[in-house]
Amino acid sequence: MSTPTSRSDWEALAASLTINNQAFINGEYCDAQSGETFECTSPVDGRLLTQVASCDLADANIAVANAREVFEAGTWSKLAPVKRKQVMIKFADLLEANADELALLETLDMGKPIKFSKTVDVAGAARAIRWSGEAIDKIYDEVAPTAHNEIGMITREPVGVVAAIVPWNFPMIMACWKLGPSLATGNSVILKPSEKSPLTAIRMAQLAIEAGIPPGVLNVLPGFGHTVGKALALHMDVDTLVFTGSTKIAKQLMIYAGESNMKRVWLEAGGKSPNIVFNDAPDLKAAAEAAASAIAFNQGEVCTAGSRLLVEKGVKDELIGLIAQELKSWLPGHPLDPDTITGAVVDAQQLNTVLGYIKAGEEQGALLVQGGKQVMAETGGVYVQPTIFANVTNDMRIASEEIFGPVLSVIEFDGMDEAIKIANDTIYGLAAGVWTSDLSKAHKTAKALRSGMVWINHYDGGDMTAPFGGYKQSGNGRDKSLHAFDKYTEIKATWIAL
Ligand code: NAD
Ligand code: MN
Repeated sequence: MSTPTSRSDWEALAASLTINNQAFINGEYCDAQSGETFECTSPVDGRLLTQVASCDLADANIAVANAREVFEAGTWSKLAPVKRKQVMIKFADLLEANADELALLETLDMGKPIKFSKTVDVAGAARAIRWSGEAIDKIYDEVAPTAHNEIGMITREPVGVVAAIVPWNFPMIMACWKLGPSLATGNSVILKPSEKSPLTAIRMAQLAIEAGIPPGVLNVLPGFGHTVGKALALHMDVDTLVFTGSTKIAKQLMIYAGESNMKRVWLEAGGKSPNIVFNDAPDLKAAAEAAASAIAFNQGEVCTAGSRLLVEKGVKDELIGLIAQELKSWLPGHPLDPDTITGAVVDAQQLNTVLGYIKAGEEQGALLVQGGKQVMAETGGVYVQPTIFANVTNDMRIASEEIFGPVLSVIEFDGMDEAIKIANDTIYGLAAGVWTSDLSKAHKTAKALRSGMVWINHYDGGDMTAPFGGYKQSGNGRDKSLHAFDKYTEIKATWIAL
């Protein structure tokens, strides 16, 4: 079929789609050992898409044993980097070649607009795989500055078996930010997608095999966190656990590692990112556009969402007015309509969380400026209006807790010192925006922010070359860039007496 260009094209493709719902172990699709499945329901219209294999400890044991065996055998782990590179590039090509199908699976499974599933999610996933693959034959090891009669070699080796546990908001991208560097460095990987969005991970596994990744090197175990996720996190033969998800679960994973084999644990967790607009912002309209997309894009289900808008007194009213105007173009529409830019929330549970926070905002005395309501209920799907609260103080729940929905909290400040104080008054430290024409103020503020990413005079920038991750309870370690390779390699010092 040619590329769909209208909602009815996408609906036709959806009707003809065969959805794979099995686990993927040692190069083959299989049911869970227990035969259990869980329902995969679309938030677009409430339709049951399929029943997905619900893996648990028994499946984790088989997958880890296979992953270990293939790692020891060296069919992938000992392959020359240039060869692994070629396979990774082929894998990226195949993701792109199957972009329509993957984008459709992503949209049906977790509700995001098809436009973004294709241009952001599939494209970003392919970029991550390709970038990591292209990098791997260009990274050199080190030789220590020794005396004449000895040689000190400092080499990187793959850790072995990696378990990757990922969330549902960008299912393919979050997976590929882990798969790129872990596969490129020669590890065997077990990917556990979120129970809310398992479909693209299941499909990607087959494309990886088609690209030439040997069986057992990439395994996919769909299932719940408390079953298969926990089994992987406690497993004695998983060497490294990489995770993207909530801070609450991230902390639990550190406990599991301590209770088991001290596996390395790398966490990308939640955020409550401040977007700071000073009176001297160079372009208030641009700041408003960015602030609107920072809270509305992906239905607000973004770890780096600019959910706290810190605005200096002098421009507060004007900026709120501009953002309110901007957010009118972010009203939800049908996710398969190519013009839609806001889709469905991932599921009814998440919708209730968002509506609960909107209620809490009103109860704690914040001013509801716009939005706040569930919409399009007649579709059977779950949709909510982008919402703005003004007169918010940083101690209110809508300002201190991660909502993971399109709810903006506007907090007023007076001067740089107060802005920095409010910005840092959070358990999180993922990202921050700063809008000012004053170069020195921009740098001073950026340096003072306890945050892994700072964006000056825009929001949410960066590409594969820039590390992505947080300070404080937003996690440790970084995805993207060569820094991500640190998570998947051990450093060996070999000292040779000549
Ligand atoms: P979550 O923590 O509920 O779940 C994440 C994953 O962990 C899922 O696969 C889940 O099944 C699994 N899990 C749950 N309990 C587990 C357990 N006891 N043992 C092992 N695994 C378990 O998070 P979510 O709701 O899927 O995703 C939203 C969160 O992800 C938000 O907090 C968001 O900020 C964060 N996030 C962070 C980044 C980042 O890069 N920092 C990126 C995207 C999302
Ligand atoms: Mn789903």
